[in-house]
Amino acid sequence: MLDAGECLSTATIEQRGPIPVHLREAASHHLFGCDVCQEVCPFNGKERPPSRLSERNVAHARWGEVSLVDLARLGMAGGGSFAELVEGSPLHRATEEGLARNAALGLAHVEGSEAALAEITSQHPSPVVRDAAEWALARRRR
Ligand code: SF4
Repeated sequence: MLDAGECLSTATIEQRGPIPVHLREAASHHLFGCDVCQEVCPFNGKERPPSRLSERNVAHARWGEVSLVDLARLGMAGGGSFAELVEGSPLHRATEEGLARNAALGLAHVEGSEAALAEITSQHPSPVVRDAAEWALARRRR
């Protein structure tokens, strides 16, 4: 049995608004989707050899300079352009707010991210992103 409401792909891509608190720890390790079930499925292994998978998973060059902080600041004054970042990729599905929310959660695992998280907590226009940043900041201080 699979409960789609507990799936991290659903949480990080399809979920609008805040990610449920009980999923945040797991979701904070995934910026966009999960798909571990696809990687471990023996049927997929036969159909899609690893070499083909790695060719398909090469990141756009424009992502080379983008940090997790940059992503969490999407939607803030002076933040980057979501439209330019996601052009030609499925990332637009998460929405600007969702991607910033996911990145803010991920900052819980980044050494030295406290100042950025404090800024996002107080200045991001989205209450959803501010909430995610608050969670990440609290986790860093634990
Ligand atoms: S392994 Fe698959 S079903 Fe489980 S959280 Fe990840 S994407 Fe969802």
